[in-house]
Amino acid sequence: MPGKRCRKCFTFEDSDEEIEDRLEVAAAEGHIECVRKIMKHMEPFGNHHWEYLTGAMFGACDGGYNDIIEMVLKVGVNIKSCPYGEWKCVDAQNSHLQSNIFRAISYNHIDTVKLLIRWNANVNHLTRDLWTPLYMSSHYGNNKIIKILLKAGARMDPVDIYGWTPLTIAANKVIAVRERCDIVPKVSY
Ligand SMILES: [Zn+2]
Repeated sequence: MPGKRCRKCFTFEDSDEEIEDRLEVAAAEGHIECVRKIMKHMEPFGNHHWEYLTGAMFGACDGGYNDIIEMVLKVGVNIKSCPYGEWKCVDAQNSHLQSNIFRAISYNHIDTVKLLIRWNANVNHLTRDLWTPLYMSSHYGNNKIIKILLKAGARMDPVDIYGWTPLTIAANKVIAVRERCDIVPKVSY
C-alpha cells in the first residue's frame, strides 16, 4: 500500500471536474503529495492540462508554497498554447487578468515573488484595469517587493485606466494611514 492519502483533498472516486477544483485547494494548503497525485491522474486529459495547472499555480502562489510552484512550472513550461491562444504557466492569469505574481504579492510572499521572477515572470504584466505588479505592491505597501520588482525591470510610471500611477497609489495609502492615525499632513496634496 502506498502512503496514507489525504481524503480531504480528493479521492479517485471524485469526478474529474471535482478533482480539478480540489487541485487549487490542495496547492493552497501545501499538500505537495496530493498535488503530485492529482496532476498525474489528470495527465492523460491533454487540453485540460493548462487549466488544472493554472489552478495549481494560483493555489500555490496564494499559499506561498515554492516547492509546489517549481513542480508545476517544470510540467507547465512545455505547454505553449490553450484553446484561447498562447498560455504561459508562469504568467497564468484569472478573469481579471491578474497573473500568478499578483497573487504572491497580495499575500506578501517575498520568496515566491523572487522565484517567479527567476522563472521569467512578466513584471510588467497588465490586468484588465491596466495594473502592473508594482501597483499591487504599492497598494499593499510592501517596500521589499517594490525594490525586487524595480530591480527586475518593472516600469516605474505606467498609468492605469483611471489615470493612477503606482506612486499615487502609494501616496494615497500614506494619506489613509494618516487619517486613521489622526495626523494632519504638513503639506497639501
Ligand atoms: Zn491533501
